[in-house]
Amino acid sequence: MKERKTREIRIKNLRIGGKNPIAVQSMAATKTTDIPATLRQVRILEAAGADLIRIAIDNMKDLEALAEISKQTDKPLSVDLQENWKLAEAVAPYIHKIRYNPGHLHHIERDKTVEQKVAWLIGIAKKHDLAIRVGVNCGSVAPDFLEKYPTEEEAMIQSAAYHCKLLDDLGFANYCVSLKDSDPKKVIDINKQFAALRPDVPLHLGVTEAGLPPEGVIKTRVAFEQLISQGIGDTIRVSLTVPFDNKGDEITVGRQILDDIEHGRFRSVPDFGDKKLNIISCPSCSRVENEKFVDLAIKVREMTQYAKEHRLTIAIMGCRVNGPGETDDADLGLWCAPTVVNLKKKDELIGTYSYEEIIPRLKQEVDRLIAAKN
Ligand code: SF4
Repeated sequence: MKERKTREIRIKNLRIGGKNPIAVQSMAATKTTDIPATLRQVRILEAAGADLIRIAIDNMKDLEALAEISKQTDKPLSVDLQENWKLAEAVAPYIHKIRYNPGHLHHIERDKTVEQKVAWLIGIAKKHDLAIRVGVNCGSVAPDFLEKYPTEEEAMIQSAAYHCKLLDDLGFANYCVSLKDSDPKKVIDINKQFAALRPDVPLHLGVTEAGLPPEGVIKTRVAFEQLISQGIGDTIRVSLTVPFDNKGDEITVGRQILDDIEHGRFRSVPDFGDKKLNIISCPSCSRVENEKFVDLAIKVREMTQYAKEHRLTIAIMGCRVNGPGETDDADLGLWCAPTVVNLKKKDELIGTYSYEEIIPRLKQEVDRLIAAKN
Protein backbone atom coordinates (compact mmCIF):
# COMPACT_ATOMS: atom_id res chain seq x y z
CA MET A 1 0.00 0.00 0.00
CA LYS A 2 1.24 3.48 -0.78
CA GLU A 3 1.80 5.79 2.15
CA ARG A 4 -0.78 8.49 2.82
CA LYS A 5 0.61 12.02 2.68
CA THR A 6 -2.20 14.17 4.00
CA ARG A 7 -1.94 16.55 6.93
CA GLU A 8 -3.51 15.66 10.26
CA ILE A 9 -6.77 17.24 11.37
CA ARG A 10 -8.51 16.97 14.72
CA ILE A 11 -12.14 16.28 15.55
CA LYS A 12 -12.48 16.34 19.35
CA ASN A 13 -10.06 13.55 20.43
CA LEU A 14 -10.04 11.89 17.01
CA ARG A 15 -7.19 12.54 14.59
CA ILE A 16 -7.53 11.82 10.92
CA GLY A 17 -5.06 12.22 8.09
CA GLY A 18 -1.30 11.75 8.18
CA LYS A 19 -0.28 8.45 9.73
CA ASN A 20 -3.43 8.02 11.81
CA PRO A 21 -5.51 4.89 11.24
CA ILE A 22 -8.32 5.34 8.73
CA ALA A 23 -11.37 6.38 10.77
CA VAL A 24 -14.72 4.69 10.19
CA GLN A 25 -17.89 6.73 10.53
CA SER A 26 -21.61 6.54 9.99
CA MET A 27 -24.77 8.53 10.43
CA ALA A 28 -27.89 8.17 12.56
CA ALA A 29 -30.88 7.41 10.33
CA THR A 30 -33.73 8.08 12.73
CA LYS A 31 -35.61 11.37 13.05
CA THR A 32 -33.26 13.50 15.13
CA THR A 33 -36.21 14.83 17.14
CA ASP A 34 -37.00 11.29 18.31
CA ILE A 35 -34.36 11.44 21.03
CA PRO A 36 -34.74 7.85 22.37
CA ALA A 37 -34.60 6.39 18.84
CA THR A 38 -31.63 8.54 17.85
CA LEU A 39 -29.77 7.71 21.05
CA ARG A 40 -30.41 4.05 20.30
CA GLN A 41 -28.81 4.59 16.88
CA VAL A 42 -25.86 6.28 18.57
CA ARG A 43 -25.46 3.28 20.91
CA ILE A 44 -25.66 0.86 17.97
CA LEU A 45 -22.95 2.80 16.14
CA GLU A 46 -20.79 3.09 19.28
CA ALA A 47 -21.09 -0.66 19.89
CA ALA A 48 -20.07 -1.36 16.29
CA GLY A 49 -16.93 0.76 16.83
CA ALA A 50 -17.73 4.03 15.05
CA ASP A 51 -15.00 6.65 15.37
CA LEU A 52 -17.33 9.52 14.48
CA ILE A 53 -21.12 9.81 14.37
CA ARG A 54 -22.98 12.15 12.08
CA ILE A 55 -26.42 13.59 12.76
CA ALA A 56 -28.59 15.48 10.28
CA ILE A 57 -29.90 18.83 11.46
CA ASP A 58 -32.50 20.71 9.47
CA ASN A 59 -34.32 22.96 11.95
CA MET A 60 -34.46 24.27 15.50
CA LYS A 61 -36.39 21.22 16.77
CA ASP A 62 -33.55 18.96 15.54
CA LEU A 63 -31.17 21.31 17.28
CA GLU A 64 -32.95 20.98 20.63
CA ALA A 65 -32.74 17.20 20.29
CA LEU A 66 -29.05 17.42 19.37
CA ALA A 67 -28.34 19.38 22.55
CA GLU A 68 -29.70 16.45 24.55
CA ILE A 69 -28.10 13.71 22.42
CA SER A 70 -24.66 15.34 22.60
CA LYS A 71 -24.73 15.15 26.42
CA GLN A 72 -25.09 11.40 26.24
CA THR A 73 -22.19 10.35 24.06
CA ASP A 74 -18.44 10.82 24.22
CA LYS A 75 -18.00 10.16 20.51
CA PRO A 76 -17.04 13.04 18.26
CA LEU A 77 -20.19 14.31 16.57
CA SER A 78 -20.54 15.76 13.13
CA VAL A 79 -23.55 17.48 11.64
CA ASP A 80 -24.56 17.55 8.06
CA LEU A 81 -25.78 20.99 7.00
CA GLN A 82 -27.17 21.34 3.51
CA GLU A 83 -29.33 24.33 2.49
CA ASN A 84 -29.66 24.96 6.23
CA TRP A 85 -26.02 26.04 6.68
CA LYS A 86 -27.23 29.06 8.69
CA LEU A 87 -27.78 26.68 11.62
CA ALA A 88 -24.00 26.35 12.00
CA GLU A 89 -23.78 28.94 14.75
CA ALA A 90 -26.55 27.33 16.81
CA VAL A 91 -25.22 23.75 16.48
CA ALA A 92 -21.56 24.63 17.09
CA PRO A 93 -21.59 24.25 20.92
CA TYR A 94 -22.83 20.66 20.65
CA ILE A 95 -20.64 19.18 17.94
CA HIS A 96 -17.07 18.80 16.71
CA LYS A 97 -17.34 18.88 12.94
CA ILE A 98 -19.58 20.46 10.32
CA ARG A 99 -20.10 19.19 6.82
CA TYR A 100 -21.13 21.85 4.36
CA ASN A 101 -22.02 21.23 0.73
CA PRO A 102 -20.62 23.82 -1.72
CA GLY A 103 -23.57 23.05 -4.00
CA HIS A 104 -26.11 24.08 -1.35
CA LEU A 105 -24.82 27.51 -0.39
CA HIS A 106 -26.68 29.48 -3.05
CA HIS A 107 -30.28 28.75 -1.96
CA ILE A 108 -30.61 31.30 0.83
CA GLU A 109 -29.19 34.79 1.46
CA ARG A 110 -28.79 35.32 -2.27
CA ASP A 111 -27.49 38.84 -1.68
CA LYS A 112 -24.31 37.36 -0.15
CA THR A 113 -21.51 35.74 -2.09
CA VAL A 114 -20.40 32.15 -1.53
CA GLU A 115 -17.08 33.56 -0.31
CA GLN A 116 -18.86 35.61 2.38
CA LYS A 117 -20.90 32.60 3.47
CA VAL A 118 -17.80 30.39 3.70
CA ALA A 119 -15.96 33.09 5.69
CA TRP A 120 -18.89 33.17 8.13
CA LEU A 121 -18.85 29.37 8.51
CA ILE A 122 -15.11 29.32 9.06
CA GLY A 123 -15.40 32.07 11.68
CA ILE A 124 -17.73 29.76 13.61
CA ALA A 125 -15.44 26.76 13.15
CA LYS A 126 -12.48 28.75 14.49
CA LYS A 127 -14.42 30.12 17.44
CA HIS A 128 -15.64 26.66 18.50
CA ASP A 129 -12.56 24.69 17.42
CA LEU A 130 -14.51 22.59 14.92
CA ALA A 131 -13.36 20.62 11.93
CA ILE A 132 -15.01 21.18 8.55
CA ARG A 133 -15.77 18.76 5.75
CA VAL A 134 -16.24 20.25 2.32
CA GLY A 135 -18.68 17.64 1.04
CA VAL A 136 -19.16 17.66 -2.74
CA ASN A 137 -21.85 15.33 -4.08
CA CYS A 138 -22.63 14.32 -7.64
CA GLY A 139 -26.32 15.26 -7.41
CA SER A 140 -25.79 18.74 -6.01
CA VAL A 141 -22.74 20.29 -7.65
CA ALA A 142 -22.59 24.09 -7.45
CA PRO A 143 -24.37 25.39 -10.59
CA ASP A 144 -21.63 27.90 -11.54
CA PHE A 145 -19.05 25.08 -11.63
CA LEU A 146 -21.36 22.87 -13.70
CA GLU A 147 -21.68 25.73 -16.20
CA LYS A 148 -17.97 26.40 -16.32
CA TYR A 149 -16.55 22.89 -16.69
CA PRO A 150 -17.28 20.38 -19.45
CA THR A 151 -18.04 17.39 -17.23
CA GLU A 152 -19.69 16.90 -13.87
CA GLU A 153 -16.54 15.17 -12.59
CA GLU A 154 -14.37 18.15 -13.49
CA ALA A 155 -16.91 20.52 -11.91
CA MET A 156 -16.83 18.47 -8.69
CA ILE A 157 -13.02 18.43 -8.51
CA GLN A 158 -12.71 22.15 -9.27
CA SER A 159 -15.47 23.07 -6.82
CA ALA A 160 -13.69 21.14 -4.04
CA ALA A 161 -10.33 22.66 -4.96
CA TYR A 162 -11.84 26.16 -5.00
CA HIS A 163 -13.29 25.71 -1.51
CA CYS A 164 -9.95 24.39 -0.23
CA LYS A 165 -8.33 27.56 -1.53
CA LEU A 166 -11.01 29.67 0.20
CA LEU A 167 -10.33 27.89 3.49
CA ASP A 168 -6.55 28.15 3.04
CA ASP A 169 -6.88 31.89 2.39
CA LEU A 170 -8.94 32.22 5.55
CA GLY A 171 -6.05 30.64 7.49
CA PHE A 172 -8.07 27.52 8.31
CA ALA A 173 -6.42 24.10 7.96
CA ASN A 174 -8.65 21.83 10.08
CA TYR A 175 -10.67 20.54 7.14
CA CYS A 176 -11.12 17.51 4.95
CA VAL A 177 -12.89 16.97 1.63
CA SER A 178 -15.25 14.38 0.22
CA LEU A 179 -16.14 13.79 -3.43
CA LYS A 180 -18.97 11.29 -3.66
CA ASP A 181 -20.89 9.66 -6.46
CA SER A 182 -23.07 6.57 -6.65
CA ASP A 183 -20.84 5.15 -9.40
CA PRO A 184 -17.72 3.60 -7.82
CA LYS A 185 -15.71 4.15 -10.99
CA LYS A 186 -16.37 7.88 -10.77
CA VAL A 187 -15.54 7.87 -7.07
CA ILE A 188 -12.18 6.30 -7.90
CA ASP A 189 -11.51 8.69 -10.74
CA ILE A 190 -12.45 11.96 -9.04
CA ASN A 191 -10.71 11.14 -5.79
CA LYS A 192 -7.51 10.14 -7.62
CA GLN A 193 -7.56 13.39 -9.57
CA PHE A 194 -8.30 15.49 -6.50
CA ALA A 195 -5.57 13.74 -4.47
CA ALA A 196 -3.06 14.55 -7.23
CA LEU A 197 -4.15 18.20 -7.11
CA ARG A 198 -4.22 18.52 -3.31
CA PRO A 199 -2.15 15.70 -1.79
CA ASP A 200 -2.14 17.52 1.57
CA VAL A 201 -5.92 17.50 2.11
CA PRO A 202 -7.38 14.55 4.07
CA LEU A 203 -10.09 12.72 2.14
CA HIS A 204 -13.34 11.26 3.41
CA LEU A 205 -14.26 8.42 1.05
CA GLY A 206 -17.70 7.09 0.27
CA VAL A 207 -19.86 5.71 -2.50
CA THR A 208 -23.10 7.56 -1.99
CA GLU A 209 -26.38 5.65 -2.34
CA ALA A 210 -24.44 2.39 -2.68
CA GLY A 211 -27.73 0.62 -1.93
CA LEU A 212 -28.76 -2.67 -0.39
CA PRO A 213 -26.25 -5.30 0.69
CA PRO A 214 -24.63 -7.23 -0.90
CA GLU A 215 -24.47 -5.01 -4.01
CA GLY A 216 -23.87 -1.87 -1.93
CA VAL A 217 -20.97 -3.54 -0.14
CA ILE A 218 -19.41 -4.66 -3.43
CA LYS A 219 -19.60 -1.17 -4.96
CA THR A 220 -18.03 0.36 -1.87
CA ARG A 221 -15.34 -2.30 -1.61
CA VAL A 222 -14.30 -1.79 -5.22
CA ALA A 223 -13.87 1.96 -4.75
CA PHE A 224 -12.05 1.67 -1.42
CA GLU A 225 -9.68 -1.05 -2.66
CA GLN A 226 -8.60 1.06 -5.61
CA LEU A 227 -8.12 4.24 -3.59
CA ILE A 228 -6.81 3.12 -0.21
CA SER A 229 -4.21 0.84 -1.81
CA GLN A 230 -2.92 4.00 -3.55
CA GLY A 231 -2.63 5.91 -0.27
CA ILE A 232 -5.86 7.84 -0.85
CA GLY A 233 -8.45 8.07 1.94
CA ASP A 234 -8.26 9.06 5.62
CA THR A 235 -11.78 8.32 6.80
CA ILE A 236 -14.54 6.19 5.28
CA ARG A 237 -18.28 5.91 5.36
CA VAL A 238 -20.08 2.89 3.94
CA SER A 239 -23.60 3.95 2.88
CA LEU A 240 -25.97 1.00 2.96
CA THR A 241 -29.74 0.83 2.73
CA VAL A 242 -30.44 -1.19 5.87
CA PRO A 243 -33.07 -1.07 8.64
CA PHE A 244 -32.31 1.26 11.56
CA ASP A 245 -31.33 -1.62 13.84
CA ASN A 246 -28.69 -2.81 11.36
CA LYS A 247 -26.97 0.57 11.00
CA GLY A 248 -23.92 -0.82 12.82
CA ASP A 249 -23.33 -2.91 9.67
CA GLU A 250 -21.96 0.22 8.00
CA ILE A 251 -19.16 0.24 10.57
CA THR A 252 -18.45 -3.50 10.63
CA VAL A 253 -18.45 -3.68 6.83
CA GLY A 254 -16.12 -0.67 6.68
CA ARG A 255 -13.68 -2.23 9.16
CA GLN A 256 -13.78 -5.56 7.30
CA ILE A 257 -12.94 -3.84 4.01
CA LEU A 258 -10.04 -1.95 5.65
CA ASP A 259 -8.73 -5.16 7.23
CA ASP A 260 -8.93 -6.99 3.91
CA ILE A 261 -7.07 -4.21 2.11
CA GLU A 262 -4.39 -4.08 4.81
CA HIS A 263 -3.83 -7.82 4.50
CA GLY A 264 -3.88 -7.83 0.72
CA ARG A 265 -7.21 -9.61 0.41
CA PHE A 266 -8.51 -7.89 -2.69
CA ARG A 267 -11.56 -8.98 -4.63
CA SER A 268 -11.64 -8.91 -8.41
CA VAL A 269 -13.29 -5.79 -9.72
CA PRO A 270 -16.73 -6.76 -10.97
CA ASP A 271 -17.95 -5.11 -14.14
CA PHE A 272 -21.20 -3.78 -12.78
CA GLY A 273 -23.30 -0.93 -13.98
CA ASP A 274 -22.14 -0.95 -17.56
CA LYS A 275 -24.30 -3.61 -19.10
CA LYS A 276 -26.59 -4.72 -16.29
CA LEU A 277 -29.30 -3.40 -14.06
CA ASN A 278 -27.85 -1.02 -11.48
CA ILE A 279 -29.99 -0.12 -8.47
CA ILE A 280 -28.77 2.73 -6.31
CA SER A 281 -30.44 3.74 -3.07
CA CYS A 282 -29.55 6.15 -0.32
CA PRO A 283 -28.60 4.86 3.14
CA SER A 284 -31.48 6.88 4.69
CA CYS A 285 -30.98 9.34 7.52
CA SER A 286 -33.15 11.45 9.80
CA ARG A 287 -34.51 13.19 6.70
CA VAL A 288 -36.15 10.05 5.31
CA GLU A 289 -39.78 11.02 4.73
CA ASN A 290 -41.43 7.64 5.30
CA GLU A 291 -40.12 4.62 7.16
CA LYS A 292 -41.38 2.42 4.33
CA PHE A 293 -38.30 3.56 2.38
CA VAL A 294 -36.10 0.52 3.11
CA ASP A 295 -38.98 -1.85 2.27
CA LEU A 296 -39.53 0.07 -0.92
CA ALA A 297 -35.87 -0.38 -1.92
CA ILE A 298 -36.12 -4.13 -1.21
CA LYS A 299 -39.35 -4.42 -3.22
CA VAL A 300 -37.82 -2.54 -6.16
CA ARG A 301 -34.91 -4.96 -6.20
CA GLU A 302 -37.21 -7.98 -6.03
CA MET A 303 -39.59 -6.70 -8.69
CA THR A 304 -36.79 -5.82 -11.13
CA GLN A 305 -35.02 -9.19 -10.99
CA TYR A 306 -36.49 -10.06 -14.38
CA ALA A 307 -34.65 -7.03 -15.83
CA LYS A 308 -31.23 -7.74 -14.35
CA GLU A 309 -29.55 -8.34 -17.72
CA HIS A 310 -30.68 -4.93 -19.02
CA ARG A 311 -28.54 -1.85 -18.86
CA LEU A 312 -30.76 0.33 -16.66
CA THR A 313 -30.16 2.47 -13.61
CA ILE A 314 -32.91 2.86 -11.02
CA ALA A 315 -32.37 5.30 -8.13
CA ILE A 316 -34.36 5.27 -4.89
CA MET A 317 -33.95 8.19 -2.49
CA GLY A 318 -35.48 8.79 0.92
CA CYS A 319 -36.29 12.50 0.89
CA ARG A 320 -36.75 15.80 -0.90
CA VAL A 321 -33.35 17.19 0.14
CA ASN A 322 -31.30 15.00 -2.18
CA GLY A 323 -34.00 12.96 -3.90
CA PRO A 324 -34.93 15.31 -6.77
CA GLY A 325 -31.31 16.11 -7.76
CA GLU A 326 -29.70 12.74 -7.22
CA THR A 327 -32.24 10.88 -9.34
CA ASP A 328 -31.68 13.08 -12.42
CA ASP A 329 -29.07 10.81 -13.97
CA ALA A 330 -30.96 7.57 -13.41
CA ASP A 331 -33.13 6.02 -16.14
CA LEU A 332 -35.89 5.83 -13.54
CA GLY A 333 -35.84 7.57 -10.18
CA LEU A 334 -38.04 7.31 -7.11
CA TRP A 335 -37.91 9.75 -4.25
CA CYS A 336 -40.03 9.54 -1.14
CA ALA A 337 -42.47 12.10 0.20
CA PRO A 338 -44.42 11.44 3.41
CA THR A 339 -47.41 9.75 1.74
CA VAL A 340 -46.42 9.38 -1.91
CA VAL A 341 -43.46 8.38 -4.02
CA ASN A 342 -42.34 10.62 -6.88
CA LEU A 343 -41.50 8.68 -10.02
CA LYS A 344 -39.10 10.22 -12.53
CA LYS A 345 -37.61 9.36 -15.88
CA LYS A 346 -34.22 11.12 -15.88
CA ASP A 347 -35.04 14.69 -14.78
CA GLU A 348 -38.70 14.56 -15.82
CA LEU A 349 -41.39 13.86 -13.22
CA ILE A 350 -43.77 11.13 -14.44
CA GLY A 351 -46.13 11.42 -11.46
CA THR A 352 -46.67 10.72 -7.78
CA TYR A 353 -48.03 7.40 -6.51
CA SER A 354 -48.92 5.90 -3.16
CA TYR A 355 -46.52 3.43 -1.56
CA GLU A 356 -48.93 0.67 -2.64
CA GLU A 357 -49.23 1.82 -6.27
CA ILE A 358 -45.61 2.58 -7.00
CA ILE A 359 -44.21 -0.92 -7.66
CA PRO A 360 -46.68 -1.90 -10.46
CA ARG A 361 -46.34 1.62 -11.90
CA LEU A 362 -42.56 1.35 -11.87
CA LYS A 363 -42.80 -2.03 -13.60
CA GLN A 364 -44.74 -0.44 -16.47
CA GLU A 365 -41.92 2.04 -16.96
CA VAL A 366 -39.23 -0.64 -16.75
CA ASP A 367 -41.12 -2.68 -19.38
CA ARG A 368 -41.38 0.39 -21.60
CA LEU A 369 -37.67 1.12 -21.37
CA ILE A 370 -36.76 -2.50 -22.12
CA ALA A 371 -39.14 -2.52 -25.11
CA ALA A 372 -37.65 0.76 -26.37
CA LYS A 373 -34.08 -0.53 -26.02
CA ASN A 374 -34.99 -3.76 -27.82
S1 SF4 B 1 -31.55 11.08 0.18
FE1 SF4 B 1 -32.41 12.12 1.96
S2 SF4 B 1 -32.99 10.45 3.36
FE2 SF4 B 1 -31.55 9.61 1.89
S3 SF4 B 1 -29.55 9.80 2.92
FE3 SF4 B 1 -29.82 11.57 1.54
S4 SF4 B 1 -30.62 13.16 2.87
FE4 SF4 B 1 -30.95 11.19 3.96
